[in-house]
Amino acid sequence: MPSRSRLLITLSLSSLAVTTVSCRDRNSLSVVKYAHAGSSQLLSTPIGRLGLQDSGITHSLGNGLNICVRKYGVNQYSDKSLLLETKLAHAMWLKAAGYGANEFSRLKFTVSESCTKEFASVIALEHPEITAQATGDNAGQFNEPKLSCGPRGATAYGCSSDGGITLGWGTPGSLNYSYLADNPKKWTKVASAAPSMVRLSPYVDWQSLEDGVHANSEISDEAKTKISAAYQELLNDNEQTFDVLGNFNNLLGENGVTMAGDQEFSAIMKQSAPDRETFSGRAYRPRQAAFHTLIHEVGHTFGLTHADNPGQGDITGPSATTVFDPSRNQYVTKMSSMAYGAPYGFLTEDDRLGVTAADSAIRAEIASHR
Ligand SMILES: [Zn+2]
Repeated sequence: MPSRSRLLITLSLSSLAVTTVSCRDRNSLSVVKYAHAGSSQLLSTPIGRLGLQDSGITHSLGNGLNICVRKYGVNQYSDKSLLLETKLAHAMWLKAAGYGANEFSRLKFTVSESCTKEFASVIALEHPEITAQATGDNAGQFNEPKLSCGPRGATAYGCSSDGGITLGWGTPGSLNYSYLADNPKKWTKVASAAPSMVRLSPYVDWQSLEDGVHANSEISDEAKTKISAAYQELLNDNEQTFDVLGNFNNLLGENGVTMAGDQEFSAIMKQSAPDRETFSGRAYRPRQAAFHTLIHEVGHTFGLTHADNPGQGDITGPSATTVFDPSRNQYVTKMSSMAYGAPYGFLTEDDRLGVTAADSAIRAEIASHR
């Protein structure tokens, strides 16, 4: 199976409207078809691999998922934070797909200097060529951002990044399928071909979720205090079970938590126009929390695609927040962690609908090849 094209999140250097959505019962809508890849591309996702392991089909995928976390040469965003936030993102998507503590206990997270292609999933924050060598995957391309500042129209004066800024890449990986020529519908063996990959840009000054919440002026001091205390407790918790991770994720959802935008850019834009001009052409490091990008990229490893700009082969459908775009002949929404919208720290209803629909498609695909 050809590996899926890479999916990325980029940052546009303009102020983002902060949008909150109410957390509604996931069963309140009967149509659950939103924003995921076609079923043949979904089986290498974490829920696809778990499903194959339980299917009775012969496979060499082991029993559970080994997830490798690799960080190199970035100091402010600690290994402990990246590991915890990787677990939070996986617990969030698994729960949204309808899974629980049993499935989460089959995920083994390892911080390692060498994340190889033997892993089911790799989460990397380092120079992309280093991971590419180990995993045999193509390196996601990241650009070192450079600012360009000057007049914008008759009265405005602004800065932007040449070519935009890529914050991360995510892809669900791929599998190899064996079957007998006379019966291609029945798989005789399934093996891993490439791990799911998440890459965070090495050109961003990443912050912890706690720092991203603290820097967001939209969040009340009371909520910040609660989230900080809970985050510190989790960091020092050696177990980090599905339930405690889920409680923390609930806290983020209940408070409609979004991450602060790029604080370096905000600081530059606060300077007077002539001072801003001195930043033109300079290398520049965005400073923001990694958590929203992690949720988004881990969402890609679960087979979800861009909710506001789905690929033409992607499956979308109506929900409370989607609108039909006749030019695409698809439903789209920005109210999703999978859209280029607000930097959500939680999953919206459309995210939940998308991953639930992806899970149904995975089950049907497995059942039809048993
Ligand atoms: Zn993306």
